[in-house]
Amino acid sequence: MTIDVDPKPALRLTRDRVRDRLTFPARHFLERGFSRKILDSFDVGYSAKRDRIVVPLYDEEGIHCIGDTFRSYKPPCGTCRKHHDPGVPCKYGQQKWGIMRGFAKRAYLYNYAAALRADSPFVFLVEGPPDVWRLGEAGYVGVALLGSSMTDEQHRKQWPSTRRS
Ligand SMILES: [Zn+2]
Repeated sequence: MTIDVDPKPALRLTRDRVRDRLTFPARHFLERGFSRKILDSFDVGYSAKRDRIVVPLYDEEGIHCIGDTFRSYKPPCGTCRKHHDPGVPCKYGQQKWGIMRGFAKRAYLYNYAAALRADSPFVFLVEGPPDVWRLGEAGYVGVALLGSSMTDEQHRKQWPSTRRS
């Protein structure tokens, strides 16, 4: 018996549509020393609707956004370990990072499309999008797991035969 899994992602937005939803630059990451240029190239912006920084997740062609990951820009709370402004009750705390519900992150590598096209003999494997941006600023190409452990699906991703990841 085979089990059907709907291969179509729920979200499928062009880059223009993605950028229409967001405000640039994402001040939180500018303050953490990322350049406007690198944040802009990855379409990292602020979403008023979510009240978080949004990091769009593009498909393997790098054309359509198929999901979002979010970063709270609020300060961490020592009591609940979530993120919220001082004086705001802990129940309103946000996780530091979140991801769109139902996103197939186990089979996803952030920046994979660009890494496939990059003229580089190797690709760094890192944990999160900010690590990919740091590498980009230094002239290197990275892909991120969106977590700290690699899944079998991520491990099986195809690379050109000349490339060692
Ligand atoms: Zn709290």
